[in-house]
Amino acid sequence: MDFRLTDDQRALREDVRAFTREEIRPAAIELDWNGEYPDEILEELGERRLTGLTIPEEYGGRGEGLVELALVTEELAAGLMSVASATALHLGVAAVVERFGTDAQRETFLPGMATFDRVGALGLSEANAGSDKLAMETTAERDGDEWVLNGHKEWVTNFLDADVVLTYAKTGPDGDAPNNVSAFLVPTDAFEVEEEWQTLGAWSVKSPRVRLDDVRVPADRLVGEEGEAYVQRGEVKTGVNVPARGVGIARAALEDTVAYTSEREQFDQPVGDFQGVRWRVAEMAERVDAARLLTLRAAARADRGADVGRELSMAKIRATESAVENANDALQLHGGKGYTNEHHVERYLRDARLLTIAGGPNELHRNTLADAVFDARSESASTE
Ligand SMILES: Cc1cc2nc3c(=O)[nH]c(=O)nc-3n(C[C@H](O)[C@H](O)[C@H](O)COP(=O)(O)OP(=O)(O)OC[C@H]3O[C@@H](n4cnc5c(N)ncnc54)[C@H](O)[C@@H]3O)c2cc1C
Repeated sequence: MDFRLTDDQRALREDVRAFTREEIRPAAIELDWNGEYPDEILEELGERRLTGLTIPEEYGGRGEGLVELALVTEELAAGLMSVASATALHLGVAAVVERFGTDAQRETFLPGMATFDRVGALGLSEANAGSDKLAMETTAERDGDEWVLNGHKEWVTNFLDADVVLTYAKTGPDGDAPNNVSAFLVPTDAFEVEEEWQTLGAWSVKSPRVRLDDVRVPADRLVGEEGEAYVQRGEVKTGVNVPARGVGIARAALEDTVAYTSEREQFDQPVGDFQGVRWRVAEMAERVDAARLLTLRAAARADRGADVGRELSMAKIRATESAVENANDALQLHGGKGYTNEHHVERYLRDARLLTIAGGPNELHRNTLADAVFDARSESASTE
Protein backbone atom coordinates (compact mmCIF):
# COMPACT_ATOMS: atom_id res chain seq x y z
CA MET A 1 0.00 0.00 0.00
CA ASP A 2 1.35 3.40 -1.00
CA PHE A 3 0.32 6.35 1.20
CA ARG A 4 2.03 8.93 -1.04
CA LEU A 5 0.18 11.33 -3.27
CA THR A 6 1.22 11.47 -6.92
CA ASP A 7 3.47 14.30 -8.09
CA ASP A 8 0.48 15.96 -9.76
CA GLN A 9 -1.60 15.73 -6.60
CA ARG A 10 1.22 17.22 -4.54
CA ALA A 11 1.65 20.04 -7.05
CA LEU A 12 -2.09 20.76 -6.97
CA ARG A 13 -2.08 20.82 -3.17
CA GLU A 14 0.95 23.14 -3.06
CA ASP A 15 -0.61 25.47 -5.59
CA VAL A 16 -3.86 25.78 -3.61
CA ARG A 17 -1.97 26.00 -0.30
CA ALA A 18 0.03 28.97 -1.61
CA PHE A 19 -3.13 30.62 -2.94
CA THR A 20 -4.83 30.13 0.43
CA ARG A 21 -1.85 31.54 2.32
CA GLU A 22 -1.54 34.59 0.07
CA GLU A 23 -5.12 35.39 -0.91
CA ILE A 24 -7.60 33.79 1.48
CA ARG A 25 -6.06 33.82 4.93
CA PRO A 26 -5.16 37.53 4.99
CA ALA A 27 -8.77 38.41 4.07
CA ALA A 28 -10.58 35.72 6.07
CA ILE A 29 -11.27 37.53 9.36
CA GLU A 30 -12.63 40.63 7.65
CA LEU A 31 -14.74 38.74 5.10
CA ASP A 32 -16.23 36.65 7.88
CA TRP A 33 -16.97 39.47 10.30
CA ASN A 34 -18.42 41.66 7.54
CA GLY A 35 -20.51 38.78 6.24
CA GLU A 36 -19.04 39.60 2.84
CA TYR A 37 -19.26 37.13 -0.03
CA PRO A 38 -15.72 36.18 -1.12
CA ASP A 39 -16.41 37.02 -4.76
CA GLU A 40 -12.88 38.08 -5.71
CA ILE A 41 -11.44 34.87 -4.29
CA LEU A 42 -14.05 32.74 -6.04
CA GLU A 43 -13.46 34.64 -9.28
CA GLU A 44 -9.77 33.82 -9.04
CA LEU A 45 -10.56 30.18 -8.24
CA GLY A 46 -12.73 30.25 -11.37
CA GLU A 47 -9.87 31.59 -13.47
CA ARG A 48 -7.73 28.73 -12.18
CA ARG A 49 -10.59 26.29 -12.99
CA LEU A 50 -10.61 25.13 -9.37
CA THR A 51 -14.36 25.78 -9.41
CA GLY A 52 -14.36 23.25 -12.24
CA LEU A 53 -12.00 20.84 -10.51
CA THR A 54 -14.10 17.70 -11.02
CA ILE A 55 -15.86 18.89 -14.20
CA PRO A 56 -14.55 16.99 -17.26
CA GLU A 57 -11.95 18.77 -19.38
CA GLU A 58 -14.21 18.64 -22.44
CA TYR A 59 -16.53 21.05 -20.58
CA GLY A 60 -13.74 23.37 -19.49
CA GLY A 61 -12.98 21.81 -16.11
CA ARG A 62 -9.91 20.04 -14.81
CA GLY A 63 -11.37 16.53 -14.91
CA GLU A 64 -9.97 15.58 -11.51
CA GLY A 65 -11.33 12.99 -9.11
CA LEU A 66 -12.50 12.94 -5.51
CA VAL A 67 -9.02 12.61 -4.00
CA GLU A 68 -8.18 15.93 -5.63
CA LEU A 69 -11.50 17.36 -4.43
CA ALA A 70 -10.61 16.32 -0.87
CA LEU A 71 -7.13 17.83 -1.15
CA VAL A 72 -8.31 21.15 -2.57
CA THR A 73 -11.23 21.39 -0.14
CA GLU A 74 -8.91 20.84 2.83
CA GLU A 75 -6.66 23.68 1.67
CA LEU A 76 -9.51 26.12 1.03
CA ALA A 77 -11.20 25.27 4.35
CA ALA A 78 -7.93 25.87 6.18
CA GLY A 79 -8.17 29.45 4.88
CA LEU A 80 -11.92 30.14 5.14
CA MET A 81 -14.49 27.37 5.35
CA SER A 82 -17.11 29.39 3.48
CA VAL A 83 -14.90 29.45 0.38
CA ALA A 84 -14.61 25.66 0.53
CA SER A 85 -18.38 25.31 1.09
CA ALA A 86 -19.25 27.55 -1.87
CA THR A 87 -16.89 25.66 -4.16
CA ALA A 88 -17.81 22.17 -2.98
CA LEU A 89 -21.60 22.61 -3.10
CA HIS A 90 -21.27 24.11 -6.57
CA LEU A 91 -19.18 21.12 -7.71
CA GLY A 92 -21.74 18.76 -6.15
CA VAL A 93 -24.41 20.25 -8.42
CA ALA A 94 -22.08 20.00 -11.43
CA ALA A 95 -21.41 16.33 -10.63
CA VAL A 96 -25.13 15.48 -10.76
CA VAL A 97 -25.54 17.33 -14.08
CA GLU A 98 -22.48 15.62 -15.50
CA ARG A 99 -23.46 12.15 -14.32
CA PHE A 100 -27.21 12.15 -14.97
CA GLY A 101 -27.91 15.16 -17.20
CA THR A 102 -28.46 15.17 -20.95
CA ASP A 103 -25.74 16.19 -23.40
CA ALA A 104 -27.61 19.46 -23.91
CA GLN A 105 -27.66 20.14 -20.15
CA ARG A 106 -23.94 19.39 -19.86
CA GLU A 107 -23.17 21.71 -22.75
CA THR A 108 -25.43 24.45 -21.41
CA PHE A 109 -24.39 24.38 -17.77
CA LEU A 110 -20.94 22.87 -17.23
CA PRO A 111 -18.61 25.27 -19.13
CA GLY A 112 -19.97 28.28 -17.21
CA MET A 113 -19.83 26.34 -13.96
CA ALA A 114 -16.18 25.42 -14.52
CA THR A 115 -15.23 29.10 -14.50
CA PHE A 116 -17.80 30.09 -11.83
CA ASP A 117 -19.52 32.38 -14.31
CA ARG A 118 -22.55 30.18 -13.67
CA VAL A 119 -22.88 29.32 -10.00
CA GLY A 120 -24.74 26.28 -8.70
CA ALA A 121 -26.54 25.74 -5.38
CA LEU A 122 -28.28 22.75 -3.84
CA GLY A 123 -31.97 22.83 -2.88
CA LEU A 124 -32.65 19.60 -1.05
CA SER A 125 -33.38 20.14 2.68
CA GLU A 126 -36.70 21.55 3.85
CA ALA A 127 -38.20 22.65 7.17
CA ASN A 128 -39.68 19.18 7.75
CA ALA A 129 -37.17 17.27 5.65
CA GLY A 130 -33.71 17.71 7.18
CA SER A 131 -32.30 14.35 8.17
CA ASP A 132 -35.34 12.68 6.60
CA LYS A 133 -35.08 14.06 3.07
CA LEU A 134 -37.86 11.86 1.73
CA ALA A 135 -40.32 13.81 3.89
CA MET A 136 -39.91 16.72 1.47
CA GLU A 137 -43.08 18.61 0.60
CA THR A 138 -41.97 20.46 -2.52
CA THR A 139 -43.79 19.09 -5.54
CA ALA A 140 -43.36 19.27 -9.30
CA GLU A 141 -46.29 18.57 -11.60
CA ARG A 142 -46.04 18.06 -15.30
CA ASP A 143 -48.10 20.48 -17.42
CA GLY A 144 -47.50 19.98 -21.13
CA ASP A 145 -43.91 20.88 -21.92
CA GLU A 146 -43.30 22.32 -18.47
CA TRP A 147 -43.01 21.35 -14.85
CA VAL A 148 -44.73 23.45 -12.18
CA LEU A 149 -42.91 23.59 -8.85
CA ASN A 150 -44.35 24.56 -5.49
CA GLY A 151 -42.73 24.49 -2.07
CA HIS A 152 -39.66 25.76 -0.29
CA LYS A 153 -36.06 24.89 0.49
CA GLU A 154 -34.86 25.64 4.00
CA TRP A 155 -31.12 26.05 3.48
CA VAL A 156 -29.54 26.88 0.14
CA THR A 157 -25.85 27.65 0.51
CA ASN A 158 -24.57 30.05 -2.17
CA PHE A 159 -28.13 31.04 -3.13
CA LEU A 160 -27.63 34.81 -2.98
CA ASP A 161 -24.83 34.64 -5.55
CA ALA A 162 -25.95 31.57 -7.47
CA ASP A 163 -27.54 31.33 -10.90
CA VAL A 164 -29.17 27.95 -10.67
CA VAL A 165 -30.50 25.72 -7.89
CA LEU A 166 -30.56 21.96 -8.31
CA THR A 167 -34.02 21.59 -6.80
CA TYR A 168 -35.42 18.29 -5.56
CA ALA A 169 -39.18 17.82 -5.67
CA LYS A 170 -41.72 15.02 -5.32
CA THR A 171 -43.06 13.86 -8.65
CA GLY A 172 -44.70 10.66 -7.47
CA PRO A 173 -46.76 9.28 -4.57
CA ASP A 174 -45.15 8.55 -1.18
CA GLY A 175 -45.83 4.86 -1.79
CA ASP A 176 -43.19 4.94 -4.54
CA ALA A 177 -40.45 6.31 -2.23
CA PRO A 178 -37.53 6.55 -2.72
CA ASN A 179 -38.37 6.49 -6.45
CA ASN A 180 -40.69 9.50 -6.27
CA VAL A 181 -38.23 12.41 -6.26
CA SER A 182 -36.95 14.30 -9.31
CA ALA A 183 -34.34 17.03 -9.69
CA PHE A 184 -34.68 20.24 -11.70
CA LEU A 185 -32.34 23.04 -12.68
CA VAL A 186 -34.27 26.11 -11.55
CA PRO A 187 -32.94 29.66 -12.05
CA THR A 188 -32.44 31.52 -8.78
CA ASP A 189 -34.60 34.43 -9.88
CA ALA A 190 -37.62 32.10 -9.88
CA PHE A 191 -37.40 31.83 -6.07
CA GLU A 192 -38.40 34.25 -3.37
CA VAL A 193 -36.07 34.60 -0.38
CA GLU A 194 -38.11 34.06 2.78
CA GLU A 195 -35.46 34.13 5.48
CA GLU A 196 -31.79 34.99 5.73
CA TRP A 197 -30.78 33.11 8.85
CA GLN A 198 -28.49 34.62 11.47
CA THR A 199 -26.11 31.71 11.96
CA LEU A 200 -23.39 30.83 14.47
CA GLY A 201 -20.77 30.67 11.72
CA ALA A 202 -20.22 30.46 7.95
CA TRP A 203 -21.01 34.17 7.75
CA SER A 204 -19.56 35.06 4.37
CA VAL A 205 -21.62 32.58 2.34
CA LYS A 206 -25.28 32.62 3.38
CA SER A 207 -27.79 29.75 3.23
CA PRO A 208 -31.26 31.31 3.10
CA ARG A 209 -34.71 29.75 3.09
CA VAL A 210 -36.33 30.20 -0.33
CA ARG A 211 -39.81 29.60 -1.77
CA LEU A 212 -41.23 28.47 -5.09
CA ASP A 213 -44.78 29.46 -6.03
CA ASP A 214 -46.11 27.99 -9.27
CA VAL A 215 -42.66 28.24 -10.81
CA ARG A 216 -42.64 26.87 -14.34
CA VAL A 217 -39.52 25.31 -15.82
CA PRO A 218 -39.27 23.73 -19.26
CA ALA A 219 -39.32 19.92 -19.38
CA ASP A 220 -35.66 19.90 -20.44
CA ARG A 221 -34.66 21.18 -16.98
CA LEU A 222 -35.42 17.78 -15.43
CA VAL A 223 -32.05 16.18 -14.56
CA GLY A 224 -31.87 12.42 -14.85
CA GLU A 225 -34.80 10.09 -14.91
CA GLU A 226 -38.14 11.18 -13.48
CA GLY A 227 -38.53 9.81 -9.94
CA GLU A 228 -34.94 8.60 -9.66
CA ALA A 229 -33.14 11.72 -8.43
CA TYR A 230 -32.94 10.77 -4.77
CA VAL A 231 -31.52 7.33 -5.52
CA GLN A 232 -29.15 8.70 -8.17
CA ARG A 233 -27.89 11.34 -5.74
CA GLY A 234 -26.57 8.53 -3.55
CA GLU A 235 -24.24 7.49 -6.37
CA VAL A 236 -22.43 10.83 -6.44
CA LYS A 237 -19.76 10.91 -3.74
CA THR A 238 -18.86 14.60 -3.70
CA GLY A 239 -20.06 14.51 -0.08
CA VAL A 240 -16.43 13.71 0.72
CA ASN A 241 -16.05 17.50 0.74
CA VAL A 242 -17.66 17.66 4.20
CA PRO A 243 -14.99 15.64 6.05
CA ALA A 244 -12.37 17.40 3.91
CA ARG A 245 -13.61 20.75 5.23
CA GLY A 246 -13.24 19.27 8.72
CA VAL A 247 -9.64 18.26 8.01
CA GLY A 248 -8.88 21.79 6.81
CA ILE A 249 -10.22 23.42 9.97
CA ALA A 250 -8.60 20.84 12.26
CA ARG A 251 -5.24 21.42 10.56
CA ALA A 252 -5.47 25.21 10.62
CA ALA A 253 -6.34 25.06 14.33
CA LEU A 254 -3.28 22.90 14.97
CA GLU A 255 -0.93 25.13 12.96
CA ASP A 256 -2.15 28.31 14.62
CA THR A 257 -1.77 26.70 18.04
CA VAL A 258 1.80 25.58 17.42
CA ALA A 259 2.72 29.07 16.22
CA TYR A 260 0.99 30.88 19.07
CA THR A 261 2.13 28.66 21.95
CA SER A 262 5.71 28.78 20.65
CA GLU A 263 5.70 32.58 20.93
CA ARG A 264 3.46 33.33 23.87
CA GLU A 265 5.37 33.32 27.15
CA GLN A 266 4.05 32.94 30.68
CA PHE A 267 5.99 31.96 33.79
CA ASP A 268 9.20 32.88 31.84
CA GLN A 269 8.75 30.25 29.16
CA PRO A 270 6.72 29.66 26.01
CA VAL A 271 3.38 28.10 26.98
CA GLY A 272 4.16 25.48 24.36
CA ASP A 273 6.91 24.19 26.65
CA PHE A 274 4.43 23.05 29.29
CA GLN A 275 3.94 19.31 29.13
CA GLY A 276 0.15 19.62 29.40
CA VAL A 277 0.10 21.90 26.34
CA ARG A 278 2.46 19.66 24.37
CA TRP A 279 0.32 16.58 24.93
CA ARG A 280 -2.74 18.48 23.85
CA VAL A 281 -0.99 19.65 20.67
CA ALA A 282 0.20 16.09 19.99
CA GLU A 283 -3.38 14.89 20.24
CA MET A 284 -4.50 17.63 17.85
CA ALA A 285 -1.92 16.43 15.31
CA GLU A 286 -3.08 12.84 15.68
CA ARG A 287 -6.65 13.94 15.00
CA VAL A 288 -5.64 15.77 11.81
CA ASP A 289 -3.80 12.78 10.39
CA ALA A 290 -6.49 10.26 11.31
CA ALA A 291 -9.17 12.53 9.83
CA ARG A 292 -7.20 13.08 6.63
CA LEU A 293 -6.34 9.42 6.15
CA LEU A 294 -9.97 8.38 6.55
CA THR A 295 -11.10 11.13 4.18
CA LEU A 296 -8.57 10.27 1.48
CA ARG A 297 -9.34 6.56 1.83
CA ALA A 298 -13.03 7.25 1.23
CA ALA A 299 -12.20 9.51 -1.73
CA ALA A 300 -9.78 7.01 -3.26
CA ARG A 301 -12.27 4.17 -2.94
CA ALA A 302 -15.00 6.29 -4.52
CA ASP A 303 -12.65 7.22 -7.37
CA ARG A 304 -12.14 3.57 -8.20
CA GLY A 305 -15.85 2.84 -7.99
CA ALA A 306 -15.78 0.84 -4.74
CA ASP A 307 -18.56 1.04 -2.17
CA VAL A 308 -17.94 3.80 0.41
CA GLY A 309 -20.94 3.72 2.76
CA ARG A 310 -18.82 2.66 5.72
CA GLU A 311 -15.72 4.64 4.79
CA LEU A 312 -17.48 7.91 4.03
CA SER A 313 -19.44 7.79 7.29
CA MET A 314 -16.28 7.03 9.28
CA ALA A 315 -14.48 9.94 7.64
CA LYS A 316 -17.45 12.28 8.17
CA ILE A 317 -17.71 11.48 11.87
CA ARG A 318 -14.01 11.52 12.62
CA ALA A 319 -13.05 14.58 10.57
CA THR A 320 -15.94 16.82 11.58
CA GLU A 321 -15.62 15.98 15.27
CA SER A 322 -11.84 16.48 15.05
CA ALA A 323 -12.49 19.92 13.60
CA VAL A 324 -14.69 20.86 16.56
CA GLU A 325 -12.23 19.38 19.10
CA ASN A 326 -9.17 21.00 17.54
CA ALA A 327 -10.88 24.37 17.19
CA ASN A 328 -11.97 24.19 20.81
CA ASP A 329 -8.45 23.25 21.98
CA ALA A 330 -6.94 25.97 19.81
CA LEU A 331 -9.20 28.58 21.35
CA GLN A 332 -8.28 27.44 24.85
CA LEU A 333 -4.57 27.50 24.09
CA HIS A 334 -4.81 31.01 22.64
CA GLY A 335 -6.22 32.17 25.99
CA GLY A 336 -8.28 35.37 26.04
CA LYS A 337 -6.99 36.46 22.63
CA GLY A 338 -8.44 33.28 21.17
CA TYR A 339 -11.85 34.55 22.21
CA THR A 340 -11.41 37.67 20.03
CA ASN A 341 -11.31 38.13 16.27
CA GLU A 342 -7.65 39.15 16.45
CA HIS A 343 -7.04 35.46 15.70
CA HIS A 344 -8.78 32.95 13.45
CA VAL A 345 -9.49 30.31 16.07
CA GLU A 346 -12.87 31.60 17.29
CA ARG A 347 -14.09 31.37 13.67
CA TYR A 348 -12.77 27.84 13.32
CA LEU A 349 -14.93 26.81 16.25
CA ARG A 350 -18.06 28.57 14.93
CA ASP A 351 -17.56 27.19 11.42
CA ALA A 352 -16.65 23.67 12.53
CA ARG A 353 -19.91 23.37 14.48
CA LEU A 354 -21.80 23.30 11.18
CA LEU A 355 -19.98 20.25 9.92
CA THR A 356 -21.34 17.70 12.41
CA ILE A 357 -24.85 18.71 11.25
CA ALA A 358 -24.56 19.46 7.50
CA GLY A 359 -24.06 16.64 5.02
CA GLY A 360 -26.33 14.55 7.25
CA PRO A 361 -25.99 14.78 11.05
CA ASN A 362 -23.28 12.54 12.50
CA GLU A 363 -25.97 10.46 14.20
CA LEU A 364 -27.19 9.30 10.76
CA HIS A 365 -23.62 8.50 9.75
CA ARG A 366 -23.26 6.46 12.97
CA ASN A 367 -26.39 4.55 11.89
CA THR A 368 -24.89 3.89 8.44
CA LEU A 369 -21.61 2.83 9.98
CA ALA A 370 -23.25 0.58 12.56
CA ASP A 371 -25.36 -1.06 9.83
CA ALA A 372 -22.19 -1.70 7.83
CA VAL A 373 -20.37 -3.10 10.87
CA PHE A 374 -23.23 -5.49 11.62
CA ASP A 375 -23.49 -6.43 7.97
CA ALA A 376 -21.16 -9.40 7.41
CA ARG A 377 -20.64 -8.32 3.81
CA SER A 378 -18.80 -5.22 5.00
CA GLU A 379 -15.94 -7.38 6.28
CA SER A 380 -14.42 -7.96 2.89
CA ALA A 381 -14.98 -4.35 1.85
CA SER A 382 -13.09 -2.96 4.85
CA THR A 383 -9.90 -4.86 4.10
CA GLU A 384 -9.91 -4.26 0.38
C1 LIG B 1 -25.58 26.71 7.40
C2 LIG B 1 -26.26 25.55 6.73
C3 LIG B 1 -26.12 25.36 5.37
C4 LIG B 1 -26.80 24.32 4.73
N1 LIG B 1 -26.73 24.22 3.37
C5 LIG B 1 -27.54 23.35 2.73
C6 LIG B 1 -27.63 23.36 1.30
O1 LIG B 1 -26.91 24.11 0.61
N2 LIG B 1 -28.52 22.54 0.70
C7 LIG B 1 -29.32 21.69 1.42
O2 LIG B 1 -30.11 20.98 0.81
N3 LIG B 1 -29.24 21.63 2.78
C8 LIG B 1 -28.39 22.45 3.44
N4 LIG B 1 -28.33 22.44 4.82
C9 LIG B 1 -29.21 21.54 5.55
C10 LIG B 1 -28.50 20.42 6.25
O3 LIG B 1 -28.15 19.42 5.35
C11 LIG B 1 -29.44 19.93 7.37
O4 LIG B 1 -29.40 20.92 8.38
C12 LIG B 1 -29.09 18.59 7.91
O5 LIG B 1 -29.33 17.60 6.95
C13 LIG B 1 -29.90 18.24 9.16
O6 LIG B 1 -31.25 18.51 9.02
P1 LIG B 1 -32.01 19.41 10.12
O7 LIG B 1 -31.21 20.63 10.34
O8 LIG B 1 -33.41 19.58 9.69
O9 LIG B 1 -31.95 18.55 11.46
P2 LIG B 1 -33.05 17.49 11.96
O10 LIG B 1 -33.30 16.50 10.89
O11 LIG B 1 -34.21 18.23 12.52
O12 LIG B 1 -32.27 16.78 13.14
C14 LIG B 1 -31.98 17.48 14.35
C15 LIG B 1 -31.01 16.65 15.13
O13 LIG B 1 -31.65 15.44 15.54
C16 LIG B 1 -30.72 14.40 15.59
N5 LIG B 1 -31.19 13.31 14.71
C17 LIG B 1 -31.87 13.41 13.55
N6 LIG B 1 -32.14 12.19 13.04
C18 LIG B 1 -31.63 11.30 13.90
C19 LIG B 1 -31.55 9.87 13.95
N7 LIG B 1 -32.09 9.11 12.97
N8 LIG B 1 -30.93 9.28 15.01
C20 LIG B 1 -30.39 10.03 16.00
N9 LIG B 1 -30.41 11.38 15.99
C21 LIG B 1 -31.01 12.00 14.97
C22 LIG B 1 -29.38 14.99 15.14
O14 LIG B 1 -28.64 15.40 16.28
C23 LIG B 1 -29.79 16.20 14.34
O15 LIG B 1 -28.75 17.18 14.28
C24 LIG B 1 -27.61 23.43 5.49
C25 LIG B 1 -27.71 23.60 6.86
C26 LIG B 1 -27.07 24.64 7.49
C27 LIG B 1 -27.23 24.81 8.98
